[in-house]
Amino acid sequence: MDIWYWNAEKDGMYSVKSAYRSLAGGDGMEVSGSSDRESEMWLWKRLWNVPVWPRVKMFFWQLCSEALATRANIASRIRGDISFCSLCNSFYETNIHLFKNCGVAQKVWEGLGLGGGVGATESGIRDWVEERWRELGGREHRLFMLGCWAIWEHRNKVIFDAKEVDPMVVIRRVGDVVAELEGSEHEVRRGRRRREDGMGVEDGGSWRPAPSGCVKINVDAGVKEGEGVSLCLVCRDDRGAVLWGISVVQDQVWEPHVAEAVAVLEGAKEAMRLGYKDIVMESDCAQVIEALNKKQAGRSSFMLVIDEVLCLSVYFNFVVWSFSSRVNNSVAHALAHVYPRISATEKKEKDSNHGKVIQHER
Ligand SMILES: [Zn+2]
Repeated sequence: MDIWYWNAEKDGMYSVKSAYRSLAGGDGMEVSGSSDRESEMWLWKRLWNVPVWPRVKMFFWQLCSEALATRANIASRIRGDISFCSLCNSFYETNIHLFKNCGVAQKVWEGLGLGGGVGATESGIRDWVEERWRELGGREHRLFMLGCWAIWEHRNKVIFDAKEVDPMVVIRRVGDVVAELEGSEHEVRRGRRRREDGMGVEDGGSWRPAPSGCVKINVDAGVKEGEGVSLCLVCRDDRGAVLWGISVVQDQVWEPHVAEAVAVLEGAKEAMRLGYKDIVMESDCAQVIEALNKKQAGRSSFMLVIDEVLCLSVYFNFVVWSFSSRVNNSVAHALAHVYPRISATEKKEKDSNHGKVIQHER
């Protein structure tokens, strides 16, 4: 069931304008044109099989879904924001500019030996990605995904850490990651059994699949002052294979723990919608998991969300609210935080002292 769909949901206080991308079966939800959907499926299936960190796949997925918070994207939501390219400062920072046409990106592609992709495509980013995908072979797909990811990482460092723009930094970063991945692949071959879902290399931690017959939903939320909230859900079966994922960006002003609770609520709703009866819901927000396990009650907006989750939970035969450290929640975390970048420590600060500058991780 590899279908992506858009779903604009109006749901009381929780969703105003939400862009859903999911891998779940389309069942009455708003679906984009079928050829569009086929091309998304075509690409998604291929990129998911590339041996690279899940967070890179998730980033790539957001890129192809036009869900990255580029300046052009932000400017279209928030009037008055600067929308020039963070790297060359000469053109509007659209996806297609940042990853394809920007002089900095072109140097990166040359440096990685993937040059020549500056062809005629002027349409969407996904057309360009698809075109490049067909041109490139074997190991180059991983380089291509990592190149895009590293360009985005560099762009964020330029904006948030005031780093100098330097395509060489991006090229070296890709090289380091490839070496690291090849090292861990070697480890995997020597000892541990490879994961069946083809994800190959997990980025650290000890994430475990749900018990037999259950699905596990990892959820996470990222909050960025003035820009909104992103929620991310990743659902995997009892073998660890990804069934679907959702990334939602909302113009909401929520405190981080409220956003984390809403992420759990969205996970519960999606699980209900898809008819799952046995679920493990995993969040890296201890406050949410504790409130659910202790069935806490109260009148704060946080408690109202918790209460709604508890009301929904009677629908399930088996439900476990599970705390997962940030590292084990990495897929959901990475996806939620591709949009608003926020680190664990800064997030704690922000819980007690919200309104401070937020930086991105790594
Ligand atoms: Zn540029």
